[in-house]
Amino acid sequence: MADFSAGAAWMRGKIMPIGEASMGVLDWGLTHSDVTYDVVPVWKGAFFRLEDYLDRFMASMADLRLAPGMDRAEIRQALIEMVAASGLREAYVAMVCSRGAPIVPGTRDPRFCANHFFAWCVPYVNIIPLERVARGVSVYIPDDIHRIPEDCVNPRAKNYHWGDFTQGLFAAKDRDFDTVLLTDHAGNVTEGPGFNAFIVQGDRVVTSDHGVLHGLTRRTAIELCEAHGYTVEKRPLPMEEFLEAEEIFLTTSSGGILPVTRVNDRIYSNGTPGPKSAALREGYFDWMMRPEFREDVPYGG
Ligand SMILES: *Cc1c(COP(=O)(O)O)cnc(C)c1O
Repeated sequence: MADFSAGAAWMRGKIMPIGEASMGVLDWGLTHSDVTYDVVPVWKGAFFRLEDYLDRFMASMADLRLAPGMDRAEIRQALIEMVAASGLREAYVAMVCSRGAPIVPGTRDPRFCANHFFAWCVPYVNIIPLERVARGVSVYIPDDIHRIPEDCVNPRAKNYHWGDFTQGLFAAKDRDFDTVLLTDHAGNVTEGPGFNAFIVQGDRVVTSDHGVLHGLTRRTAIELCEAHGYTVEKRPLPMEEFLEAEEIFLTTSSGGILPVTRVNDRIYSNGTPGPKSAALREGYFDWMMRPEFREDVPYGG
């Protein structure tokens, strides 16, 4: 029996332990970051909102003109079989489509590459450690590192252009913050490495609609906020307004809804997770169990 405790991968139709998955050094996914991906969570034995994640992944591939020679049903089946084989009950499940290696050696013509799909899963990832989430997340917003403009790299197709985020993370870690949030060149708050951001102001919540990935957790948070009676505004979110917020939270498939207690030198809710964000965080984990959002994994079947 293969050991899938560290995770599993699906490559070229085969399921293998994640440590055995590899790809070629000539792949444009590596040499040009010419790749799109998506990440769907598996929670207590079921995929959460699988069809919505697949919708986004299919749209990202179309946007980047990637065609891996597999249709949606085949991709869906590969993910289900891989997670079932892994035995993981709580998992971070990545699906990837890469431009591939050039078919004509040395070509610079993106049409002549062998696009390919692969997938992998590992035990569920919390991008912010749970003990930090319990105390409230600290966020650094640098004034000298900005989000890549959306007319340069489309943020709505999940991508590996992480140069801005990686620089931002170093700046945040150098100053002892948990993570980083980036502004655009007009001074609006956009997103961070793998998450969207919201502010709460009375009975309103605001999240950016520009220069960001339309996160599925962002969507769940919007629906949850509406169900809790908030008015949801999707629009540019100026840094000054962001800093004056009553509460702030982040949203990600790798951790859910994360209350923020510090941004730069400002402390929120006396340094403990705000009641509204904390209630929404709980609501998210309740919604993860709603039958209409769940696709059971056929383990051992
Ligand atoms: C994945 C990601 C998010 C969050 O999206 P979810 O679908 O909620 O996980 C936000 N921003 C970026 C840049 C991301 O890569």
